[in-house]
Amino acid sequence: MKPETLLISDLHLAAGRPQAIELFLRFARERARQAEAIYILGDLFDAWIGDDDDSALAVAVRGALRELTATGVTLFFQGGNRDFLVGTRFAGETAARLLPDFAVVDLYGTPTLLTHGDLLCTDDVDYQQARVMLRSPAFVADFLGKPLPARAALAAEYRRRSGEATSLKAEDIMDVNADAVAQAMRAHGVRRLIHGHTHRPAIHSITLDGEAAERVVLAEWHDDAGQCVCVTAAGVKVEAVQ
Ligand code: MN
Repeated sequence: MKPETLLISDLHLAAGRPQAIELFLRFARERARQAEAIYILGDLFDAWIGDDDDSALAVAVRGALRELTATGVTLFFQGGNRDFLVGTRFAGETAARLLPDFAVVDLYGTPTLLTHGDLLCTDDVDYQQARVMLRSPAFVADFLGKPLPARAALAAEYRRRSGEATSLKAEDIMDVNADAVAQAMRAHGVRRLIHGHTHRPAIHSITLDGEAAERVVLAEWHDDAGQCVCVTAAGVKVEAVQ
């Protein structure tokens, strides 16, 4: 195990994407085991309908994560907009540690703010309103009270509608808002932020209150190629996953 930490997000695993699932399972079995810690910053799943999901995908991913943590790798999971319902049962079954929407972690001496990224997209007012509704305790309780097939159907319907809405939106409102980024970094006292969600992978060098800072954006995974960010004491590196 090396003194390195890997971060991934936006795999959007779904039953209809067997190649992507295989790519992730191989990552969990091979590359991930060389690191001391893995952070999944949300949207591992294209939809997560509850920790009681007994689909082949859910079973396979939970099993792979459980095997990974059993080798001694520390696993952290932060919910994305697609899988914010990942909860304590999932955490117990995989030995993952759940992170809140904003988490500051010390990565080899550098305080680093981790977040999925959707909360930084403040220009998309419709999305932020829908987000509040979808996460309200009443909505979540009602949703989780339904049988699994009904939840799966609702999730598919929601994805279809959100896909239609997204295709009608201007490109720039779906990216992060620079003020929201600065505010979040300032509030958490960091000069490094790592997030996903926007599918615009990059390492941005920025200036925050006159100091050098960086914003690292994780990539979405495709069927035949993924990406992880590897952090060591020397800094941040982007690595292909194949
Ligand atoms: Mn997302």
